[in-house]
Amino acid sequence: MSAVTDDCLFCKIVAGEIPATVVMSTDTTLAFRDINPQAPTHVVVVPRAHYPDAAALAAADPVLAAELLRTSAAVAEAEGIVESGYRLVFNTGRGAGQSVFHVHCHVIGGRPITWPPG
Ligand code: AMP
Ligand code: ZN
Repeated sequence: MSAVTDDCLFCKIVAGEIPATVVMSTDTTLAFRDINPQAPTHVVVVPRAHYPDAAALAAADPVLAAELLRTSAAVAEAEGIVESGYRLVFNTGRGAGQSVFHVHCHVIGGRPITWPPG
């Protein structure tokens, strides 16, 4: 497991130092509502361990990467958006809109989700 980054917002949420509306918790992952939701369902799913982005996570711990996807799918089921469809997003790099460098999967749904993304 990688070291916790002192200055990481999502590490602080995982540690309970910053409040969040948690919707699902497993031994290795945590899911909470995005503070600035872009759709009726907008949940952020993170591994409890700190990795900066999806590529780093997949390279270092593919089992944990799969657990992150499994929790994301379970969140979509719990939110009732499987039938209508939902989007999983890993913004990777500042140019793609990543603002928190602790890997996270956005689970977005509850409205039509258009393509291409902005
Ligand atoms: P990204 O821009 O892909 O790195 O996603 C970071 C997401 O974290 C954004 O959608 C933010 O709205 C969200 N966010 C920032 N601070 C918080 C917070 N304290 N609690 C929940 N979500 C947050
Ligand atoms: Zn972190």
